[in-house]
Amino acid sequence: MSPSVAAARTAHCVAQTAARFTTRLTTGLRSASLGALAAACLLAAPAQAQEQVLNLYSARHYQTDEALYGDFTKATGIRINRVDADDAGILARLKSEGSASPADVILLVDAARLWRAEQDGLFQPVKSATLESRIPAALRSKDDGSGSQWFGFSKRARVIVYNKSALAKTEVATYESLADPKLKGKVCTRSGSHPYNLSLFASMVEHLGAEKGEAWLQGVKNNMARDPKGGDTDQIKAVASGECQVALSNSYYVARMMRSSNPDDRAAMEKVAIVFPDQQSYGTHTNIAGGAVAKHAPHRAAAVRFLEYLAGDDAQRYFANGNNEWPTVAGVKAANPALEALGSFKADELPVSVIGANQGKVQQMLDRVGYK
Ligand code: FE
Repeated sequence: MSPSVAAARTAHCVAQTAARFTTRLTTGLRSASLGALAAACLLAAPAQAQEQVLNLYSARHYQTDEALYGDFTKATGIRINRVDADDAGILARLKSEGSASPADVILLVDAARLWRAEQDGLFQPVKSATLESRIPAALRSKDDGSGSQWFGFSKRARVIVYNKSALAKTEVATYESLADPKLKGKVCTRSGSHPYNLSLFASMVEHLGAEKGEAWLQGVKNNMARDPKGGDTDQIKAVASGECQVALSNSYYVARMMRSSNPDDRAAMEKVAIVFPDQQSYGTHTNIAGGAVAKHAPHRAAAVRFLEYLAGDDAQRYFANGNNEWPTVAGVKAANPALEALGSFKADELPVSVIGANQGKVQQMLDRVGYK
């Protein structure tokens, strides 16, 4: 810092601090106190300049995240201020705050939401050799030369859950099978417009083409046991109870139920089995939880450092295990007995950015076929 900048900052600090305390100081004490304040500000100036913070807007809320953030602060001295909200709440907040937003890093779940936020201009590109070498290209946004706008830090698969006593695995081995007339009255799903389904459907439309993709959505809708409702866990429970025989769920809801100490959850999991769909063709649809640097990040360097930290081996394990997911960095294994029991599978390699780009088209198809 140059001497003139330091002097200006000290004067500013004295003025601000004095103003804050003016109401409490008697006139007699004020002049003496200003001298003391100037000294205090001079001492405080280097510390203030050095204090590093990071404002994190997170849609992830897991116990292990505390250790994840604590380790970052220990390693870097950068304090994390966290704002927790759901994905929609974070996006709405960023938009309303505009260029005055204090957000540095944004953590969201699902590629469709990350893609939407990128389109809405809420992120900025990051060029980082660490992130480029650690995060596979298919799991970060397209790099147009200036860097990627978001990076996936954990992976989940969208699996098929079926009732073992009602169906055979071979009857539900593919996403396509969910539209087979043989499954009429047997399928249940959450809302077609939920980002988890929108992303899967967007990948199906990419693989099948628009015409066959829309016909597939119509077929799935025609097979419903009931109107779409609830979350993924509700679909698993509906399959176990016999309300329907087959459903879609993100893998971590399955793993969570498998690891649950609740006897009802364990009993439900006894009745169902899991398929990683489309192993003979393009592979199972996978999605990500990911992070980005906010467009107007006041602490950009700290933000990039945090994303690089999340790509490290230890952070990858914490991040993945917090929600029973898989790390995105190749070679990092999260010891998770439920995921190990599910086994390995072939993942669809379709870039998540393609999935994001298809979602508007898919929403129109859902409206046309009446899939709410
Ligand atoms: Fe979820």
